[in-house]
Amino acid sequence: MWFKQKTAEGNWQANGYLLAGGHHKYKKIEGIMANRKYIVGNWKMNGLRAQLSNIADIAAIAANHEGVDVGICPPVTLIAAAAQANPGFAIGAQDCHFAESGAHTGCVSAAMLKEAGAGYSIIGHSERRADQQEGDSEVKAKGEALRAAGMGAILCVGETEEERDAGQAIEIVTVQLARSFPAGASADWLTIAYEPVWAIGTGRVPDASDVAEMHAEIRKKLGELMGQGSEAVRILYGGSMNGSNAAELLAVPNVDGGLVGGASLTAAKFGPIIEAAAAA
Ligand code: PEP
Repeated sequence: MWFKQKTAEGNWQANGYLLAGGHHKYKKIEGIMANRKYIVGNWKMNGLRAQLSNIADIAAIAANHEGVDVGICPPVTLIAAAAQANPGFAIGAQDCHFAESGAHTGCVSAAMLKEAGAGYSIIGHSERRADQQEGDSEVKAKGEALRAAGMGAILCVGETEEERDAGQAIEIVTVQLARSFPAGASADWLTIAYEPVWAIGTGRVPDASDVAEMHAEIRKKLGELMGQGSEAVRILYGGSMNGSNAAELLAVPNVDGGLVGGASLTAAKFGPIIEAAAAA
């Protein structure tokens, strides 16, 4: 049964969960409030205008699964065209600069992305942390820039294979999360993506028990960092999610969705993941 009340701060709460993101972010499962599933495709450096029809096909599948939030982050060159062609569908960016404007050749600010039609951006993806040597403080500043622009952020964290083998995965990920965590975080604009680096693009996926352990640790750390409202922050799993393993991964406690690379490029591959999320 739903029990809704106003807190002393004037926020609405239901069954102990702060309704910071609005009612739509929650669904009730066997008496427990669970976050709505959120499936996001990261196209990385893939896609020309010829592939815009793939986004239209994906948006059409998403429209048939209203219980799931779905988005695509195409390369920056396709954001405006994708947003214009698919009104109401959640187009995002893969990165943004932390500054509002200035002498940053080749970079794009949050406001520019918003004007192009992106509602949110991935930040701190391990490919950028490795290839562009982005550190936690830069990632944190990017999150704060997105918030200032009125956009959402999907903050990525994850350990390397060496770190996992050394038994350091939880320490690495929770410290990365704390150091990259933007000020003023709340569930209505911030999402976390746990992406073990060794699982990205490799076809390898951690055991469900390891995913459960890590997501529980991230949930605990969010509680320490945010206090009230942390339960409503969605934590996505990312790394070789596909139509065959999505149902199992999405059934893991505290897995509120997926950040998907390779399997998000076509509706044929991404559709089954959306369907698995709708059934989860
Ligand atoms: C990613 O890069 O965010 C990702 C999860 O990639 P893939 O699904 O291809 O492993």
